Amino acid sequence: MALIVQKYGGTSVRDAERVMNVARRVTEAYKAGNNVIVVVSAQGDTTDDLIEKAAEINPRASKREMDMLLATGEQISISLLAMAIERLGCPVISLTGWQAGFRTDSKYSNARIKTIDTERINMEIDRRRIVVVAGFQGINRYDDITTLGRGGSDTSAVAIAAALHADVCEIYTDVDGVYTADPRICKNAYKLDDISYEEMLELASLGANVLHNRSVEMAKKYSVKLSVRSSLNTNEGTYVKEVSKVEKMLVRGVTRDNDCARISLCGVENTPGKAFQVFDMIAKSGISVDLIIQSIGNGKTKDISFTVAESQLDIALKLLEEHNSVINAEKITSEKDVSKVSIVGAGMVNNSGVAAGMFEALYDAHINIKMIATSEIKISVLVDQKDAERAVSAIHDKFLSK
Ligand code: ADP
Ligand code: ASP
Ligand code: MG
Repeated sequence: MALIVQKYGGTSVRDAERVMNVARRVTEAYKAGNNVIVVVSAQGDTTDDLIEKAAEINPRASKREMDMLLATGEQISISLLAMAIERLGCPVISLTGWQAGFRTDSKYSNARIKTIDTERINMEIDRRRIVVVAGFQGINRYDDITTLGRGGSDTSAVAIAAALHADVCEIYTDVDGVYTADPRICKNAYKLDDISYEEMLELASLGANVLHNRSVEMAKKYSVKLSVRSSLNTNEGTYVKEVSKVEKMLVRGVTRDNDCARISLCGVENTPGKAFQVFDMIAKSGISVDLIIQSIGNGKTKDISFTVAESQLDIALKLLEEHNSVINAEKITSEKDVSKVSIVGAGMVNNSGVAAGMFEALYDAHINIKMIATSEIKISVLVDQKDAERAVSAIHDKFLSK
């Protein structure tokens, strides 16, 4: 008898028919003799709809109240799925995040799981019930509801699998597994049989939202056997594990992230300590900086450009303008319509030709590169957002065409 954690995303439970489909899959695993814990997300676009509803009333609603609202989406899903499983004649119980013992820190809208008190889940499993748990939510030390960040149900599932030492954690979604690029934007993308935790973590962090990046981080930390597969067929999915067979593939995936904006400080005094002043100030206000470039400086001045998440652009600009008497930039400019396009692959370590190949693919597609960043297993470039999807396909076909 195995202990299986299954997670079904929003599209997999979007309507009654899909909920019944999930119920059938869950009961099949249960009737085969396994103990089954199911984590579900809010149905279809529910979370987005709730965000819109809130914005109609108060576009600057506090994060605490937003979490209170957004957590209701998952609560609808768990009750409906439990009803569907009841209908199929299997013993089942639904649990909200807090009933399931999820304790988090207090960072509303982006909380981290601190502990899971597994007593209740274990008790239900011992009674041979299927346990349906609401993803994406927990409670903090004040017993207030928190959510784990968009896409966070994956992390709920992996966290339960880690806490209960489950035999496997299966993430069911609307694609057959992890692809070499988002199959919705790159027609030649294909499914990978396996991928290492490290590569998947980079891909997820760089915009491949098929898995929440923290879920991968946690799976790696606790060696959770993770598979990504479709809720609509029985195809073999993708295994995310310690070491993948590299198949001599330099590059494993291409991804893009539209959630970025560029800020440029032009004509900054060319003296020591300027970068420190700028980035220290930005960091102290809790804004994360991503790509950075600094020009070599023509005599008296230099330019510093960097990217931040689009949602943080206005705060960052306000901060820089308020403190420009210290920084003394001649001009501060910004740009929102940019995207970060990245390639990831453990095989890239020490292979100097990869960057050149990526730039060549962009050149051939007449796409201008605005910024570049490299690390051991990834290379990212900033391009105009209108070019991003073409860039993904061009780079994909350069490195990953079959
Ligand atoms: P769920 O609701 O099941 O959590 P998500 O929408 O969060 O589903 O994630 C699945 C989506 O991730 C796919 O529909 C696909 O468009 C997108 N995606 C982005 N990059 C990749 C990739 N490399 N492989 C597979 N899917 C990807
Ligand atoms: N419902 C949440 C979201 O849309 C969590 C998730 O789907 O994983 O972000
Ligand atoms: Mg998701």
